[in-house]
Amino acid sequence: MARARDPIADLRRIAFLLERANEATYRVRAFRSAAKALAGLPTTELTERAGNGTLTELAGVGDVTARCVAESLAGEEPVYLRRLLATEGSDLDAEATALRAALRGDCHTHSDWSDGGSPIEEMALAAVELGHEYLVLTDHSPRLTVARGLTAARLRRQLDHVAQVNAALPEGFRILTGIEVDINADGSLDQDDDLLARLDVVVGSVHSGLKDERSKMTRRMLTAVANPHLDILGHVTGRMVSSRPAGVTGPGDRAHRPRTRAESDFDADAVFAACVEHDTAVEINSRPERQDPPKRLIRRALEAGCRFAINTDAHAPGQLDWQRFGCERAALCGVPADRVINTWSAEDLVAWTHNRP
Ligand SMILES: [Zn+2]
Ligand SMILES: [Zn+2]
Repeated sequence: MARARDPIADLRRIAFLLERANEATYRVRAFRSAAKALAGLPTTELTERAGNGTLTELAGVGDVTARCVAESLAGEEPVYLRRLLATEGSDLDAEATALRAALRGDCHTHSDWSDGGSPIEEMALAAVELGHEYLVLTDHSPRLTVARGLTAARLRRQLDHVAQVNAALPEGFRILTGIEVDINADGSLDQDDDLLARLDVVVGSVHSGLKDERSKMTRRMLTAVANPHLDILGHVTGRMVSSRPAGVTGPGDRAHRPRTRAESDFDADAVFAACVEHDTAVEINSRPERQDPPKRLIRRALEAGCRFAINTDAHAPGQLDWQRFGCERAALCGVPADRVINTWSAEDLVAWTHNRP
């Protein structure tokens, strides 16, 4: 008989591939729930139940997931997994591929502490598997209550928790602390200064008043960019180019609403000039429904001399692989790797965030 595979790892791998392919959340959840339900089971019981067909008696395990487990235990690659692997293609052109290969981490991600769907540990493990050296955890700030934004007290607790998680992660990888802080209407940032100073990376985004008139929005963004705590300006225009794909609904994720939305109106050249002056990076947000900034603005930011961060804004582990979408757009605009801050090591990144003018 062939050597048994790790059925839990196979279930998690399937969930990851489904998320990456933007499949419906209920399909993803079937595999994540089964993995969770079975992870605590002794191997002998798992084998016994697979043998006598009683896996499905366990809460969270269905026919499809039970079949995958049985195949794994029999030493076969589950048919479900094999089919997923066979149907995914890689069609990145050479430049986008090179840019993606140069990325060493992701500076904008969410966990189930705010509106993400997975625990910090799951996000970190997926990042390790992708070959990242770091993941910046950037859950939402207090004002964004629909996304369970973290109060100062919860953020402090999260920092302690991240330190514990980091201690258990493989050497050469670490979670960097961070926040996606709301840019308030007056351009101030929605979190205590002492906390913002303590974090490794601060992403700041506009999530409200997106239809405000040009001069107001420009002032708001200029004030935020000039704030020494702000390292990366997140999804710059706030646009939504398509209704949210099926796989992106689900646990939370409400800060990213399922509607198309026009770009907010602001003086992009003034904002990009300020980003250069204050050495604030412009985010290239990889989410398929955001694709923000649009390519014409990426080109203008590039000409202005801005740095970039190619981020996923992932709300689930499989979405961490969406960086390739951002890389395609960046490559199309001619963004060179040396302008992208997440091509740096964690040490260089944190040295930059803490020493910016
Ligand atoms: Zn956001
Ligand atoms: Zn976000």
